[in-house]
Amino acid sequence: MRELIGECVSCGKYVYCENGFFNGVHEGGKLYCTRCGHDVKEQEDRENDS
Ligand SMILES: [Zn+2]
Repeated sequence: MRELIGECVSCGKYVYCENGFFNGVHEGGKLYCTRCGHDVKEQEDRENDS
């Protein structure tokens, strides 16, 4: 079973929930695919260091 959640706000890739596994990231109220969500989290980690 695969449910369309929405589009990644960064790259426009569709994000799905597959068999209960959410194939994306909710960050700051926005939806990202796994790859873009990973990049966003790394950026926030860097900002938090300063
Ligand atoms: Zn993306």
